[in-house]
Amino acid sequence: MIVRMILGLAMTVVALTVAGRRVAYLIRLATAGQPAEPDRRIGGPTRSVASVASAEVAEVLVQRKLLKWTVPGLAHLAAFWGFMFLLVTVIEGYGALFWRDFAIPVIGRQAWLGWLEDTMALATAASVVVFAIIRVRNAPKNQGRSSRFFGSHLDAAWLVLFMIFNVVWTLLLYRGAQINTGYFPFERGAYASEAVARALEPLGEDANTVIEHVGVLLALGVIFGFLVLVVHSKHMHIFTAPINVAVARRRPGGAGALGALQPVYSAGEPVDFEDPGEDDLMGRGAITDFTWKGVLDMLSCTECGRCQSQCPAWNTGKPLSPKLVVMNLRDHALARAPYTLAADDEARAALPEAVRAEGERVLVAPVDEANPAAGGVIDPDVLWSCTTCGACVNQCPVDIEHIDHIVDMRRYQVLVEGAFPDEAGVMLRNLEHAGDPWGRGASARLEWTTGLDFEVPVFGANGEDTLPEDVEYLFWVGCAGALDDKAQNTTRAVATLLHQAGVTYMVLGDGETCTGDAARRIGHEFLFQMLAAANVETLNSVGAKRIVVTCAHCFNTIANEYPQLGGHYEVVHHSTLLSQLVADRRLTPVTALDSTITYHDACYLGRHNQIFAPPRAVLGAVPGARVIEMARTGERSFCCGAGGARMWMDETLGERINTNRAREAMDLKPDVVAAACPFCIVMLSDGVRAVDAENGADGAADPSVEVADIAEILLRACAAPSPATTP
Ligand code: SF4
Ligand code: SF4
Repeated sequence: MIVRMILGLAMTVVALTVAGRRVAYLIRLATAGQPAEPDRRIGGPTRSVASVASAEVAEVLVQRKLLKWTVPGLAHLAAFWGFMFLLVTVIEGYGALFWRDFAIPVIGRQAWLGWLEDTMALATAASVVVFAIIRVRNAPKNQGRSSRFFGSHLDAAWLVLFMIFNVVWTLLLYRGAQINTGYFPFERGAYASEAVARALEPLGEDANTVIEHVGVLLALGVIFGFLVLVVHSKHMHIFTAPINVAVARRRPGGAGALGALQPVYSAGEPVDFEDPGEDDLMGRGAITDFTWKGVLDMLSCTECGRCQSQCPAWNTGKPLSPKLVVMNLRDHALARAPYTLAADDEARAALPEAVRAEGERVLVAPVDEANPAAGGVIDPDVLWSCTTCGACVNQCPVDIEHIDHIVDMRRYQVLVEGAFPDEAGVMLRNLEHAGDPWGRGASARLEWTTGLDFEVPVFGANGEDTLPEDVEYLFWVGCAGALDDKAQNTTRAVATLLHQAGVTYMVLGDGETCTGDAARRIGHEFLFQMLAAANVETLNSVGAKRIVVTCAHCFNTIANEYPQLGGHYEVVHHSTLLSQLVADRRLTPVTALDSTITYHDACYLGRHNQIFAPPRAVLGAVPGARVIEMARTGERSFCCGAGGARMWMDETLGERINTNRAREAMDLKPDVVAAACPFCIVMLSDGVRAVDAENGADGAADPSVEVADIAEILLRACAAPSPATTP
């Protein structure tokens, strides 16, 4: 016993020292960067203790996000809870170092506990088998880029599975031997341990005594080895993920770091773009510019590849994988850590050459595959491929905030380096000088009203200086809605439907300027602030309270980002308003359309703002419409390729995202592909033409499938039936 005790204590000291030093080192590394934004504080205005507790229950204890993928989700749940319960056996094993017949006080000899421990051990073993099968079936060497494990550290993952397996068998081994030597705490219930005991019994009491002593030490040794391995590997997420979930951005509805982008923060405070400080950080230009939350994100990544599997850029052959962005940042942060934490230049100069090379590596620059230290950490092609669609954030089981990091790196490139894809420069100049991406100017903003057989009420036309009391909505038309040919059809349809329903509204006409969505997402925060401040001033001065929009990007910006600049409004997307008008019978779809329609969820309406049902309710109300869903639908919808200012950049890498999405829609043979965002309409229309061209048809002159906004479809159904079809 004395040897067992001494060896056990020695293992404890070594393991806790090694693991503790590593944890302290990681904490120093995380806190060496920028302070995080103040709203990360638990118990603060945006993060009540109750909301954090509910997130922990949903995402850590119940593993809601992981369970979206049934088999791996259940296996992970089994492993998680298995480990939770096996902690009880660690207490028992540790107690047995000192007292051979140790049992946990009060409950330690009850049969149900023995049964539960054995059941959880078997559940953990079963999860290891399931994980192994999943990894073999999805091995990157067979599936290439389509494997979600492509690029993950595969050997480390197998090592961890092996260690979990060792935890289970060593546990059952010493418990079986304990039964045979008479020192097992449970008389009944521990059925798996009893089975092992039966197998060991023929070896005799002496052998069982040795197996018991060695088994206890082996079991504890494996646990301590696992602890050391965990804090040195991606399995660190066991400890970091619950913290990451607690401090993740949240908003009502639980959409995580979606919807609004954060302002530019420097030293934990938002940068004042009217009077920026000389030392203000403009985004992230080096790994040390990330906040401790950014580093915590990196340390929390499980390399599960769920984000990668959903990313439209990755799925169309582009170099961007959100998983690899996080992993590359983490690997760089860890490899550079001695340089980051060195006391002074002299200490840095004394570091090994490889560490100094890592320390001097540029964050965003072309990657050099042959000599990584000579290239950047994140390739510009990776950075500019993101559509900010939110699929990664939505999927990530540990609440990593990929979009925030990508946009922050873009901000540095745009604001400090002046580096961004050339073709986007035209859009930015147009925004600056004309207030819209096409450079058409304010005078063109009412062209869409031409030809309507009713008058569109324009604010100020009759001398108003605030919106009249009886005006229910300010109709925010948006740049596309006012200036793009196809989007103008949507604007006219919505205006007509509002007119038919007797909804009172006004438009601002030349009083609108771009909301700044594209400027913000490309990283030009200064321009965004300028455009947004002008709009907020206008909206506040006219007394806008309820605003209806037809564009998912306008919706997101006005509803979620303008509050950052003092603009607080009730913003309604036209899909929500139209579905309500139909429900209230203020609009009556009476004409059967006899059409098969598939609906495409816009990222900034669906994933970013959780508006999934209203557009479908509008289509569902149309007589004769057969609404069918694409495989990638709802929160797993596939981007159209326009978001993140990608609409204004060339798409030369891999397959075009809009073509991929249009092909998916057209495979269902619909009559109409419906959407509820002008940018989706433009991209899908182009996509349909491209797929038609692939099929040898002239999609430009006569597209095989119509792409239309839900408002246009509803308007057709609300028109009186033609005499020929009226019974
Ligand atoms: S936001 Fe979309 S495009 Fe960007 S990395 Fe995430 S999944 Fe990929
Ligand atoms: S970022 Fe999140 S979803 Fe992506 S691999 Fe890491 S843990 Fe998985």
